[in-house]
Amino acid sequence: MPFEGYRVTSPFGWIRNPITGTGQTFHKGIDLVKKHKAPIEAFTEGSVLFAGAGRSGTGLGGYGNVVVIKDKNGHGQVYAHLDRVAVLTGASVKKGQVIGYQGATGEVTGSHLHYEVRRGTFPSYGWSPDNSNGYLNPTDYLKSYYPYETPVTKPVEPAPRPNDAYQVKKDTPGYVNAADAKAGKNKKTTVKAGTYYIFNTSDGMINVTKKKGTPGSWINPNTAAAVVAKPKNKTLVLPKNSDSWRVYPLNKAPVTGNEKGFLNPKKFGGLTYEIIGNPQKDVYTIKTGDFGTVNIYAAPSTGAVIK
Ligand SMILES: [Zn+2]
Repeated sequence: MPFEGYRVTSPFGWIRNPITGTGQTFHKGIDLVKKHKAPIEAFTEGSVLFAGAGRSGTGLGGYGNVVVIKDKNGHGQVYAHLDRVAVLTGASVKKGQVIGYQGATGEVTGSHLHYEVRRGTFPSYGWSPDNSNGYLNPTDYLKSYYPYETPVTKPVEPAPRPNDAYQVKKDTPGYVNAADAKAGKNKKTTVKAGTYYIFNTSDGMINVTKKKGTPGSWINPNTAAAVVAKPKNKTLVLPKNSDSWRVYPLNKAPVTGNEKGFLNPKKFGGLTYEIIGNPQKDVYTIKTGDFGTVNIYAAPSTGAVIK
């Protein structure tokens, strides 16, 4: 959630006029409250276009002590009514950096942070009389902002499970119990390189056996990188040229009419995932590094290939 630690006291968009109590007025940003003089941290990285007292006629009149940050999408993020600012015009800021303190400067009725996302930054720091086009919904914007920062998402090695086939790449010490395998003491035997089945796992250690369903020797999969799991499930190959995938938390399978609540990673393309479930037609359960276990819609028409 973008505004963790804050109370939202007034949403973005058309609201009842807070001064007159009647009629509708367009709220260009969102009002957020921690407490008076609490540090305000930048919601994203960017460069400071302005930090100081906003003067009328500049696009910042009534905003009090205000910080305007231009982000990588060219939008202007405005942090208004600050008690004081904590950055200088021209500085670069990181996400999470303190840029000022919550206050009640400018045209306000009480201490709060007014946070606004302007479509542009020039002229007048992006101020616009066009309510519907000049401003972005800050909540939606920040929610969509972070996935773009997501590094290339890597498939996660499937956790070894009993009865999985298991490849021991080179001769490895074998032990009677998991604790010894973990400690690397009381070696009992040598597990020769070859194909085994997993009998059991415990505390990161793996009991491998030649005869499915009967116990064998405990080995430590981490020592000397001796072993590697052999996936037995089918895999889902996402085409490299397609950059937009919808993945859903497991409790939100994408049935018709339920197109909400999906995550939209930009960089799943070109990767291969083990399919660990197939809850409905063309929907596959996969495990990802960034989102954990999710459902992905991957009909043949998307170019996805099941192998
Ligand atoms: Zn406001």
